[in-house]
Amino acid sequence: MLKCVFCGEEINEGEETFQTLKGKVACISCYEDAWSYPSTVIRFSSDGEKEATSFTEQFGSLGGGDTPEPIENEIWVKTDGWRGYSDWKITKGYKKIADGWITGFPDSSVQRKIDLHEIFTDLQDKKITPPCDMFWIFGRTSNVFSSACVVVVRNEDVEEIEKWLNEIDGGIEGLKEMLS
Ligand SMILES: [Zn+2]
Repeated sequence: MLKCVFCGEEINEGEETFQTLKGKVACISCYEDAWSYPSTVIRFSSDGEKEATSFTEQFGSLGGGDTPEPIENEIWVKTDGWRGYSDWKITKGYKKIADGWITGFPDSSVQRKIDLHEIFTDLQDKKITPPCDMFWIFGRTSNVFSSACVVVVRNEDVEEIEKWLNEIDGGIEGLKEMLS
């Protein structure tokens, strides 16, 4: 008799089953549960393209395949009791340049806060385009009103993206917005 790897329930013959990335069998309700809180990678490219891929740690990318670039695996970080947030181990060759919505950008010369939320909105609206691929990863937290978020670029793009972020942050448009 087949059993679900998550809930341990027996799966009757003829019932739909789902394979985890590790080749284990899950029942439909555990599969649906996993997809009620997926994480998402949104890649913004220098040509203005945007691609979003939802994934879960157990089942990989929605539509099949492993977890998307640049995710090695997902980790649930427990803060206390049932509370916590999603975090991600990033594939070798990539670097997390920011996490959380608002963060200080690690630039030794300019100690300025960059509003990531505003940058994300501008990217979504195609008001700005990054000079290289930029990966924004979103996941669940125990607070339903907020998402965990990290921003990742390839190692070789770190310098260029830092320069770009400092330019938009200090640029004329940013200033206008601050003053409006
Ligand atoms: Zn199950």
